[in-house]
Amino acid sequence: MVDCCSAPGLMPFAQALDTMLAAISPITDTETIALTEGLARILSTDITSPINVPPHNNSAMDGYAFAQASLVNQDTLTLAGRSMAGQPYQGTCQTGQCIRIMTGAKMPAGCDTVEMQENCQVADESVKFLAARKTGDNVRYAGEDIKQGQLVFAKGRRLTAIDIGVLASLGIHKLKVFRKLNVALIATGDELKALGEPLAEGDIFESNSYALAGMLKNLNVNVINFGVIVDDESAIRKAFLQADQQADAVISSGGVSVGDADYTKLVLEQIGEIAFWKIAMKPGKPFAFGKLPNSLFFGLPGNPVSAMVTADLLAMPALMKLQNCHSAPAITFKAKCLTDLRKSPGRMDFQRGVLSHNSDGELIVNSTGSQGSGILTSIAAANCYIVLPAEQGKVLAGEIVNVRLFERYFA
Ligand code: AMP
Ligand code: MG
Repeated sequence: MVDCCSAPGLMPFAQALDTMLAAISPITDTETIALTEGLARILSTDITSPINVPPHNNSAMDGYAFAQASLVNQDTLTLAGRSMAGQPYQGTCQTGQCIRIMTGAKMPAGCDTVEMQENCQVADESVKFLAARKTGDNVRYAGEDIKQGQLVFAKGRRLTAIDIGVLASLGIHKLKVFRKLNVALIATGDELKALGEPLAEGDIFESNSYALAGMLKNLNVNVINFGVIVDDESAIRKAFLQADQQADAVISSGGVSVGDADYTKLVLEQIGEIAFWKIAMKPGKPFAFGKLPNSLFFGLPGNPVSAMVTADLLAMPALMKLQNCHSAPAITFKAKCLTDLRKSPGRMDFQRGVLSHNSDGELIVNSTGSQGSGILTSIAAANCYIVLPAEQGKVLAGEIVNVRLFERYFA
């Protein structure tokens, strides 16, 4: 653990992320589930194919199968039988013969090529071939998609809908996956009211836990919601300890800076250990990462934009590591910024933007406007971050900036 006090000033974003990820040991518990339950689960073993896909050479077209050698001195062959999908031709196609064949049907013995029916003239029991073709045309070969024994998906893959289809094509109907994570959510603040409660003077509706729960559901973890905890040291300690008993990770929001009612840091120091505290990023400077006796702890700032952005860029990668998920690095693009952007050097900015393209196909990005850390609609309207390095100052319209598309679990 890095002591917050030994790092003078603010910790660079990349260092914070690396330090945090290095401190996390992924869970090891696994379970066996049905393929139909596999969506968004994480494989705990490599999957190699038990069969060739496709299992047999087959036709890519509705047409006629034959041996190319049969057509060296003639253009007409005798129709000798049929091969339908699931009902293969049982005999061997002889020189001078062809076989009626349907898409997906097994290639008959003795055939190496298929002509599509549009290029054939059929009369009685003979077929005239009208076009030139190469040996192997319109044949799909056994194992051309996946070879028996081939690595199909590596341990750590989060399964997509397509992956489920690929696994089904291999005949796999049971999977070994890592168990789901349990993640506790705690909102702290005297002013926060749960939905359905009346707002008294000075109150606001608690919203962070709703957005966070959505992100966590998209990550396919179990959410344990502790609701709102008031700004009271012992209430917060009790909630953190309870959450720690039930969860692999605890995410709180609010009370993480240095105000009079900010107890997160204090309580974390009493019952766990704190890894770092202030990150050179905007939004989101105050962010706590630490360990409770049984779980990881993420202390997000209360401001909704800061909470969401730190959850997205720090807590989510940490949870992915904890659940053994190997995720591809975020894709960044260069785009022309069409709006002026305010920024002073010092922190790395993650401004919210809308990435699109102009009529020439060039990538362009527009700011979503006011970037205040309380303005949650600045994320709702966006599809990407405009990522501005710490040392960068303001950006003028027309300059090229780096953008990073939002992850699928985010917004
Ligand atoms: P804090 O980090 O506790 O100082 O809170 C910073 C700002 O975020 C304050 O304006 C809080 O009212 C607001 N805030 C804190 N937690 C939440 C929450 N769960 N939902 C909505 N706003 C919040
Ligand atoms: Mg607060």
